[in-house]
Amino acid sequence: MTETNFETRCVHGGPESAVRDDYRAISYPIYQTASFSHIRTGHNPSGFDYTRESNPTRTHLEEIVSSLEGAAGTTAFSSGMAAVSVCFELFSPGDHIICSEDLYGGVVRLHSLISKKNGLKIDYVDTSDLQTVAGAIRPETKAIYVETPSNPMMFITDLRGCAELAKEHGLLLIVDNTFLSPYFQNPLKLGADIVIHSGSKFLSGHNDTIAGFLCCKNQELADRVRLLSKTTGGALSPMDCWLVTRGIKTLAVRMERQQENAVKIAAWLLEQPHVTQVLYPGLKTHPGYEVNASQASGFGSMLSFRTDSKETALRVLQGVKLIIFAESLGGTESLLTYPTVQTHPDVPAEMKEHLGITDTLLRLSVGLESADDIIADLKQAFGE
Ligand SMILES: *Cc1c(COP(=O)(O)O)cnc(C)c1O
Repeated sequence: MTETNFETRCVHGGPESAVRDDYRAISYPIYQTASFSHIRTGHNPSGFDYTRESNPTRTHLEEIVSSLEGAAGTTAFSSGMAAVSVCFELFSPGDHIICSEDLYGGVVRLHSLISKKNGLKIDYVDTSDLQTVAGAIRPETKAIYVETPSNPMMFITDLRGCAELAKEHGLLLIVDNTFLSPYFQNPLKLGADIVIHSGSKFLSGHNDTIAGFLCCKNQELADRVRLLSKTTGGALSPMDCWLVTRGIKTLAVRMERQQENAVKIAAWLLEQPHVTQVLYPGLKTHPGYEVNASQASGFGSMLSFRTDSKETALRVLQGVKLIIFAESLGGTESLLTYPTVQTHPDVPAEMKEHLGITDTLLRLSVGLESADDIIADLKQAFGE
């Protein structure tokens, strides 16, 4: 079979699947087993030994994700944070890593609790400005770690520009691609070395599974990541692999419709008297609009907005009925989050103030409900 298009690969995986099911099941089976039998010494035709290291249901999923991101190899983890943790195990004491300053809160906590103790030096800079990134590079710098769009401020970083800087200085470019998913953005194709996903978000897509991925550009990195995964033991269970595989089958249609809804909601929010700012890369007025359009085929369905007061923000959070006041994002249900309290409590207060993550900021993950119903719910929550 020739190379197929993205939507087809979401449903069927790549044309050359290494794992097959003998019974030709349409839905790839859940190999709920801890171990695999060997025929005799040195003869193990299945190629599988022990599920911490590998399992057919997981291999099937990893191949699908590799084909969607254009990776040489992908490893599936029990959470996005398990994937991020292993990613930081690639470095040694004294190594310096430049990170986007608007970063997923859990990653900042990982740095302060673990990376620091392990001797890594982390700098948080505004990666949406390439000059700033270039200025932060030191002799001991080993990587640039970027989220674009970032969480929750929706800053956009120029991935091609960062890839050039990384190449010039022999650094790894690591990109958390959770917000746009491989449907809208493929950082490896723009020069990144590692792509991170929280599979708990758009990839699984139904607010029902926790998962993570590291997708590597070359085989050498992929092998290092797999060995670290086997060693630290945070691999995704067969049942959860199956759930993510099922979620990915509808990734393309979900991404399209959720974006369509987000565009309508962003436009509506702009007109609201109690809304002072709408942060959505799909708005032409967004400072990162052009860069995002040049490197991604869409803007996604995540947006943040600022209200005129803390009281308004709390009124909206407590007033929504259809939209759910909860953490997480990227699923079928629309979720409204209060970043300063829920996702970013461990980010130092000065950093939150500097970034604008204040008590008037709300983050909305737009789901698959009718856009009109989401807007009607926001409207009643604003108290109009
Ligand atoms: C959720 C998230 C993570 C962490 O993933 P978990 O699956 O919750 O462990 C990392 N990065 C981003 C951008 C996220 O949204």
